[in-house]
Amino acid sequence: MVGAGFGGLGVAMRLAAAGLDVTVVDRGPTPGGRACRLQDQGFTWDMGPSLVTMPWVFEELFALLGRDFHDEVDLVELDPLYRIDWPHDGTRIDFRRGVREMQDEIRPLSGSDAARYPDFLEASRLIHEEAVLAAGRRAFEGPAPFARLLPTMLRLDAARNLSGFCRKFFSEEHVFQAMSFHSLYIGGDPFRVPAVYAALAYLQVADGVWYAMGGMYSIVQAMVRAIEDAGGRVRCNADVDEILARNGRAVGVRLADGEVIPADIVISDADPVRTRARLLRGAPDSIPWRFRGPRNGMSCFLLYLGTDRQWPELLHHTLVVGDGYRRFLDDVTHRRVLPQDLSLYLHVPARTDASMAPPGCDSLAVLLPVPNLASGDDWDSIGDAWRDKVLRYLEEDAGLGGLRSSITVEHRMTPLDFQSRYDADEGTAFSTEPLLTRSAYFRQPNRDRTVRGLYHVGAGAHPGAGVPGVLLGAEVAAGLVARDIGVLA
Ligand SMILES: Cc1cc2nc3c(=O)[nH]c(=O)nc-3n(C[C@H](O)[C@H](O)[C@H](O)COP(=O)(O)OP(=O)(O)OC[C@H]3O[C@@H](n4cnc5c(N)ncnc54)[C@H](O)[C@@H]3O)c2cc1C
Repeated sequence: MVGAGFGGLGVAMRLAAAGLDVTVVDRGPTPGGRACRLQDQGFTWDMGPSLVTMPWVFEELFALLGRDFHDEVDLVELDPLYRIDWPHDGTRIDFRRGVREMQDEIRPLSGSDAARYPDFLEASRLIHEEAVLAAGRRAFEGPAPFARLLPTMLRLDAARNLSGFCRKFFSEEHVFQAMSFHSLYIGGDPFRVPAVYAALAYLQVADGVWYAMGGMYSIVQAMVRAIEDAGGRVRCNADVDEILARNGRAVGVRLADGEVIPADIVISDADPVRTRARLLRGAPDSIPWRFRGPRNGMSCFLLYLGTDRQWPELLHHTLVVGDGYRRFLDDVTHRRVLPQDLSLYLHVPARTDASMAPPGCDSLAVLLPVPNLASGDDWDSIGDAWRDKVLRYLEEDAGLGGLRSSITVEHRMTPLDFQSRYDADEGTAFSTEPLLTRSAYFRQPNRDRTVRGLYHVGAGAHPGAGVPGVLLGAEVAAGLVARDIGVLA
């Protein structure tokens, strides 16, 4: 297994449960990939994902190894799920799980939008159940299954873009933005991704939004424990330089230090472009020519701040939306230029979990979506200026006066770090963009189409990014391996 992200660990758990001898190797110093943890001077930050959605995916996974996920990880449900703040006009919506509570949030902005919220949820439920779960849990080996799914997508209006779908229900601008932004969690521009991602708004209401005490990394640790207890191995600081193939069949991997690890099956959780270009030495793939070349999604500029005071005006999760939201999205995802207006996401885990910061302090993770390195920006040169710009915006526009002087510890992550830490092509944070033309049959397949014995999981592979997405991909990949070698998984 190349890579110990959620995708790699998920498929390793499934194959260990099927009785296979698994070894996971990762180039990083710790497992978890983007879900790694940073600790400094009593502050703890989740460096990547922080929202746990669809917890049943973890429950099913741990049960395969005879474990109860809730014995391993202390999950706490959040309500409100998060706050959305538009500081330029003082509007604020707290996203609530209960339908009536959510309608109460919407009503002051638009009575008719509040009335249509249940219809939106029902339409999103159908998409979630009939399109997302149906497609996300099966392999798309040829164009036929994709073609068969299209009538369902058209019937559910899920093939149009997400923003168009949401506009049918919501006319007030803030409500529309609040109901359509969720694809950004996986790097997708709501104005260009298909409406299948409306399911993301629904599943939060159906399954809740949860926090893992100790941070997301506590789930990573539980997964590693489960693999090791089942006899598997997770090795860090092991950079795979080549996937070895003989007569068109994967036979193992070679690490950068020359060590060869033979294997009957190789599964790559690495970036799909880099898997092809670096690990397979440019071997051709068989994605139809019109869709060849996974288009990398956006990246992120992240600040991890330890402050000597708390910020009670911030909920556990807060989104701060700027004035030029549409332009911001277009800049970051489509035009690939640095944004003029800022929209940010803030994670403040000490609101729920006192262990994440020293008493009376806060650990803040501030995420600004930015274009990937295809923009040509040199983050070594511009990082300081963008740090100042983000902090000034939070202080002067978003109401966090005194933030800069309260910072006692500070770290950051730029697109260059995504590139160097995870070998992410163009420093993308979310891998291949979740566009319709990069989905299902047109995404990195879970079973390689040219090298036998090679499989793919992770954000760049089918079905796509997000922790539940990569875990569903792990289920599909493990199922294909099991079918190919004749074991139960
Ligand atoms: C800032 C941020 C916030 C996010 N927030 C959320 C959220 O709240 N909720 C949610 O569900 N999703 C969220 N996501 C998305 C989610 O984190 C990812 O989609 C998911 O974690 C990806 O898992 P993965 O296994 O595909 O990849 P990764 O986590 O990147 O794992 C891939 C691993 O492969 C390793 N690797 C690569 N190349 C090699 C090689 N040659 N040899 C050895 N190892 C190699 C890398 O070091 C890495 O550890 C967020 C993502 C980011 C970046």
